[in-house]
Amino acid sequence: MTDASRVLVLNSGSSSVKYQLVEMADGSRLGSGLVERIGEPDCPDHTTALTRIADQLADRGLGLDSPELAAVGHRVVHGGSRFTAPTLITDEVLDAVRELIPLAPLHNPANITGIEVTRKLRPDLPQVAVFDTAFHTTMPESAARYAIDTETADRYAVRRYGFHGTSHQYVSRGVARLLGKSPEAVNVIVLHLGNGASASAVAGGVCVDTSMGLTPLEGLVMGTRSGDLDPAVLLHLHRVAGFSMDEIDSLLNRRSGMLGLCGDNDMREVSRRMAQGDRSARLAFDIYVHRLRKYIGAYYAVLGRVDAIAFTAGVGENAADVREAAVSGLESLGLVLDPALNSVRSPEPRVVSREDSRVVIAVVPTDEELEIAQQTFSLVSSAAQ
Ligand code: AMP
Repeated sequence: MTDASRVLVLNSGSSSVKYQLVEMADGSRLGSGLVERIGEPDCPDHTTALTRIADQLADRGLGLDSPELAAVGHRVVHGGSRFTAPTLITDEVLDAVRELIPLAPLHNPANITGIEVTRKLRPDLPQVAVFDTAFHTTMPESAARYAIDTETADRYAVRRYGFHGTSHQYVSRGVARLLGKSPEAVNVIVLHLGNGASASAVAGGVCVDTSMGLTPLEGLVMGTRSGDLDPAVLLHLHRVAGFSMDEIDSLLNRRSGMLGLCGDNDMREVSRRMAQGDRSARLAFDIYVHRLRKYIGAYYAVLGRVDAIAFTAGVGENAADVREAAVSGLESLGLVLDPALNSVRSPEPRVVSREDSRVVIAVVPTDEELEIAQQTFSLVSSAAQ
């Protein structure tokens, strides 16, 4: 145990597995990669994918059997109401994650397979589940419940869980560090804008609201997901347009958002088209930003006092035009962007607001793998004592 200072982080999706081997002494990556197209002839299943990853690592002297490997940390998408923290995986925990499959039918099965295959390859190695929902389990009932019949909601576990929790946790702490304060002393709005997108209100290090709900469909406009809409849109599409439930699911999750609005889900492409005067790209951008600004306003009211707004993930870290549009004209909320700082490209956490901005506007690159590795390592280290 004493020499074991590395954590393998696995993110098993339905058709791909991403991995990073992290050296905990300094957070450096000793290896990383991606096995894609699981289910196709070249890589028929997760067992093949994970065996390939184990082989790739072994080729570099970093195999699963190496004594330096302390644990494997798995990203698990849905932990329901039960899992509020990283959890050492046992048979009972696996059963509980299995019971949550109806809440995450695409994600949890792949996560479970990743865990099972790794267990077969190294049965003695501690494995930890880090849940995408865990950081949001502190939301008060007033934010977590939908206003539907309580008995129905409870029977079917219909409530708001939130996702991207590992990122919101990592970034909210990163902002506090940037401000030279402890997380407990800071109220922050985190805007995780990637292909999936979510906002959260974090008060003193604790999540009090987030924009995703029962599933990752609620909230902001995303690459291919609609985010918020009147639930009656589903009824209308079903009753009037004759869409099946599967067709509605596919429409809202895969063919909506920026892709549905303008045909492109990549913000780089949307910005490029806008610069050429493309009107549908402009409208898609405006709808994206309008929704974002609504959430910023809502979370001001939820938090009461806001110390910082942090942008993260692919769009949040790179798209200066989105950041500018999101906060423009909000000086009365204490938000004053510095255009020069905002246009700087950098992989480092940084402040992009003017010195006289009452609320700090920051860009904090997310690192979900490092957060998963740290949570995993700290759990197995304390368990070993
Ligand atoms: P993520 O899910 O965090 O990996 O974010 C992926 C998304 O980030 C892509 O689909 C793009 O829309 C966006 N993105 C990545 N790089 C840039 C960039 N340089 N400028 C604007 N958007 C970007």
